[in-house]
Amino acid sequence: MRSWTKVSRMAPSAIRKMQDQLLHAMLTEELARRHPHYRALFQERGLDPDRIKGRDDLAKLPFTEKADVLPRPDDRLRPKRFVLEPPGPEEKPHRGLFSFLRRKPRGRERADYKLRSLMFTAGRTGKALPIEYTRYDLDNLREAAVRFFDVLDLARDDTLVCAFTFAPGVHFWQMFHGTLAVGSTALHSGGGKVLGLEKILKAVNNLEADVLAAAPGYALFALQSLRHFQIEPEYLKRILIGIDYAPLEAAERLQRLMGAMKAAGTAVQRCYFLSEAKSGWAECALGHGYHTNPDHVLVEVVDPDTGAVVGEGEPGEIVITNLDARGTVFLRFKTGDITTGGLTTTPCPHCKRTVPRILGEIERKSLYFEFESAGGGKLLNGNRLKRAMFARNEVLLWYAELFRGATGDELKVVLKGLPGEDPDALCAKLAEELQAELEVPVTCVTSKLDAIIGKIGIERFVTEQTIFDNRERE
Ligand SMILES: [Zn+2]
Repeated sequence: MRSWTKVSRMAPSAIRKMQDQLLHAMLTEELARRHPHYRALFQERGLDPDRIKGRDDLAKLPFTEKADVLPRPDDRLRPKRFVLEPPGPEEKPHRGLFSFLRRKPRGRERADYKLRSLMFTAGRTGKALPIEYTRYDLDNLREAAVRFFDVLDLARDDTLVCAFTFAPGVHFWQMFHGTLAVGSTALHSGGGKVLGLEKILKAVNNLEADVLAAAPGYALFALQSLRHFQIEPEYLKRILIGIDYAPLEAAERLQRLMGAMKAAGTAVQRCYFLSEAKSGWAECALGHGYHTNPDHVLVEVVDPDTGAVVGEGEPGEIVITNLDARGTVFLRFKTGDITTGGLTTTPCPHCKRTVPRILGEIERKSLYFEFESAGGGKLLNGNRLKRAMFARNEVLLWYAELFRGATGDELKVVLKGLPGEDPDALCAKLAEELQAELEVPVTCVTSKLDAIIGKIGIERFVTEQTIFDNRERE
């Protein structure tokens, strides 16, 4: 494991060289030898991993898609094919006469390959993938957590209430290990699903917490419910948002809400957790991009249709390769997440760290909908709809339904406005604005708070679901 102080300040050219070496070692020493899927794939296609010297050669290797990993009726243990097998006895660690002087014996420890913890991808788009963690991976997760806290500038003096939903996912456990490692006071509440909103808000108040972590939709709902619960968290100065789509609009609205409270500050920072990468990355300051761990994961950004690697700063799909992992390992895994700002290797203008950063918004490909309307087919970007709704101060909760109308597909937005808003005027204004922005037919109606809470499952799922495609069922 490398020193973060060193890795985060290395020259971009040295980071690239390090990644090339790690990639070559992962391909030749791990994947080609003990990864059931990739070993077979290299043989079938006549690919020589030794000839892949670095990221410039990566395009010679195929992508891995979620469907490649999911269990099949005739292959229920398929995800196991993505787990490294333990080394054989011939690779036993070498314990020479003076081995006690070395920190780690040479060779490979079988224990580093043994399953210790099972986590799952978020499963936003259907089935969740199991991701096996070994002792080696848990060590790396702890290291990733320390780095993540360093980028966030979270330290021992901070008191954190984490409202990320309890789940066997990297988002929850990285936060857990981070607070444990830096020794800060923390309540890992398990989110609304476990503790409920009122108790979470009371905890923020009673612990005099200065940091709250929550999914963006839940953070907004929480701050807008403070008056209802008659709670005023005056020590709160920072909110971390992640797990779900967290555009700038959501962060900025949270800042406005914090500004109107007695809160001690209005800082909002965003996190991007990626189960397949076995870690999450944070922004040092809003809008400065997610600071990746270049010695753990190699990030590529590719054209989602052609698969061609795009240039720095160009939008595309995020593709990851594990450079330092045991257990489940992926090579060129297409995440289904689109970065609108691309990847940059220029040092961060805010914190000066030199690690590659993912810029812009992280959109979900699963929220791009083909829309058939009277004027012809077009793409409805559900991420844009969410962004537009995050920006609206007057909306408390909402969801949208896609359905087949008389002349084509239509979008219906169901919402609950803030107290004091005229519901009819709000709906009329919103429908007109959304229609102009999204260029699809939009209607807008109001509903009761309980009905919306029940529909979107804000305290039932890891994150709420706000867009429902009902066209198939009609
Ligand atoms: Zn930075």
